[in-house]
Amino acid sequence: MTGEGDQRSTIHHPAHKKYNLGLIGFPLGHSLSPQLHHAALKAMGLQGEYRLYPIPPLPEGLTALHTLLDRLQAGDIQGLNVTIPHKQNVLPRLIHTSPTVAAVGAANTLFLRENELFGENTDIPGFLSDLEDLKPFSSSIALVLGAGGAARAAVYAMLSAGWQVILAARRIEQARELAASLQTALHPSLKPISHTIPLESASLTNLLNSINIGLIVNTTPVGMFPHPNASPWQSGVPFPPQAAVYDMIYNPGETMLLKQARSAGLKVKNGLGMLVEQAALALELWTGLPVPRKAMWDAVLPKLEDAHAA
Ligand code: NAP
Repeated sequence: MTGEGDQRSTIHHPAHKKYNLGLIGFPLGHSLSPQLHHAALKAMGLQGEYRLYPIPPLPEGLTALHTLLDRLQAGDIQGLNVTIPHKQNVLPRLIHTSPTVAAVGAANTLFLRENELFGENTDIPGFLSDLEDLKPFSSSIALVLGAGGAARAAVYAMLSAGWQVILAARRIEQARELAASLQTALHPSLKPISHTIPLESASLTNLLNSINIGLIVNTTPVGMFPHPNASPWQSGVPFPPQAAVYDMIYNPGETMLLKQARSAGLKVKNGLGMLVEQAALALELWTGLPVPRKAMWDAVLPKLEDAHAA
C-alpha cells in the first residue's frame, strides 16, 4: 500500500450507465447513506443504486469482505464506502491510498484508480468543513472527548488544520496510544497532542481552570439514540463560556451534551453536516462531478425529524 498526493485530476471517470455503489459495515440498520446517495444521484440525473452490505466483524466476515472488494476490482461495483468495523480491515487490499489514509490508518471511500484499488478518507475533510460553521473560535485549543476511530480522524484533522488538541478519554491508556500512534504519522512540522487526561470531573475542572478551550468535540457515542438522556460531559463541571461544542452524533439532532452547552450560552453543532459532506465528497470521487449538497440535506432532515418524534 502506498500513500500518494491528491491526484484527483488524474482519476479517469468513465461514464457509467448505472452506478453500483454501496456501504460495507456492521451493523448498518440505521444507515442514512442510501438516502443521501440516492437523492444526490437523482438530482445529478444519474442512474445508480447505493446498497448496504452488512459484513460481520472479522474473522467471520473475511470471505464476504474479499468477495465485495473483488467485485470492485472487477468493475462490477464503482464505489464503496466503509464504516465500523472495517475501516482498517480493507487496508491490506488497497494498492494505493491517499496520504490521509496512510496517516490515520483508516479508509472510508474505495474506488478503482488506474485499475487498482484506491482508498481515500472523506471523513476528515468532511469534519473540517463542517467545523467552519462554528467560527470564530475563542482559541485554537480543542478538547476532544473519546479516543476511538472517530477521535483519531478528528484529531488528525484538527492537528493538520493547526489546532492544539487535548484528548480526554475514560481509559487514559487509549488516549495515550492514540496520541503516540498519530504522532508518528504526522508531518514533523505539526504540533503533537499536548495533553491526554482522564474523562472525569476533577481532571476536566483542573484543565478548564488553566487553559482557554475554544472548541469541545464529542467523539464518544454517549447520548446517541436510543440513549438521548446521556451526556459525556461530567456533571458539576462548568462549560468554558467562550467555547463552541461539536457533537459527532446526529441522531438525536440535539444531544443532551448540545442541550447542556446551548443552555450555558455556547455555540453548538451536531454531526449531520459531517455525514453529508463525507458522502458528497465520496460521490464526487466516484463520478467526477459536482454533487448538490442541498439534495442530500433535504433527503435526510425529515428522516431525523421523524426519528426524534418516534
Ligand atoms: P469507537 O471507535 O467505538 O470509539 C468510541 C470512543 O468513545 C472510545 O474512546 C470509547 O471508549 C468511548 N466511549 C464509549 N462509551 C463511553 C462512555 N460511556 N463514556 C466515556 N467514553 C465512552 O466509535 P467511533 O467510530 O469513534 O464513533 C463514535 C461516535 O462518533 C459514534 O456516535 C458515531 O456515530 C459518531 N460518528 C459520526 C460521524 C459523522 O459523520 N457525524 C462519523 C464517524 C463517527 P472505550 O473504548 O473505553 O469504550
